[in-house]
Amino acid sequence: MPEGYCVRCKAKKEIADSVEETMKNGRRAIKGRCPVCGTVMFKILGGKASASRPSTEPPSESALNPSNAGS
Ligand SMILES: [Zn+2]
Repeated sequence: MPEGYCVRCKAKKEIADSVEETMKNGRRAIKGRCPVCGTVMFKILGGKASASRPSTEPPSESALNPSNAGS
């Protein structure tokens, strides 16, 4: 069984009735309840979403050669 943090017990608990869900951004998460107090628990598993990062674009050509339009 997956484990998560229960905010009510303020301790790590096994997630009861755990269901795996995929969120809108493509990440997977486990949703369930605390076996002690019944509080809803949510654990993000992470995963696929890291594949599409927008910050890895190379600089454009004109930025590398500012004196290109000279002649
Ligand atoms: Zn609890």
